[in-house]
Amino acid sequence: MPSKEEYKYYYDKIDSDDFFEKYKPQMNHFHKGNPNQDEFYETFGEEVQYVKEQPDNLIWTVIEEDGVTCFIQGYHFVNRFQYLIATVPYKRGDKETYYDAVDNWCIECDGGQEENENCKECGGEGYYV
Ligand SMILES: [Zn+2]
Repeated sequence: MPSKEEYKYYYDKIDSDDFFEKYKPQMNHFHKGNPNQDEFYETFGEEVQYVKEQPDNLIWTVIEEDGVTCFIQGYHFVNRFQYLIATVPYKRGDKETYYDAVDNWCIECDGGQEENENCKECGGEGYYV
């Protein structure tokens, strides 16, 4: 979970729209016909097998760490959450990290799990705004 300062810091960095526009990731064909079909590949089974067969300059790893979700160039294992396969290869010197999301549950009162009316961090919302 990020602190309020971290939340604001990462929220301002969110730029995954630019990523989708530039690298045009392919749809996950394993989920064809599924109404929830999207571009994300799982980190297990036939999906990750397929990801590993792709050229490294088309693979992006979706990393989730401490409530921050980002996409980084290439195939990685640590903190991996999902994978994306671009249709446009990245090149040397291209931006290496795109931020997609940051959790906004309040770290002080644990998202309203406890009495939080007087929480100074979130003002009793349970999450940062
Ligand atoms: Zn709070």
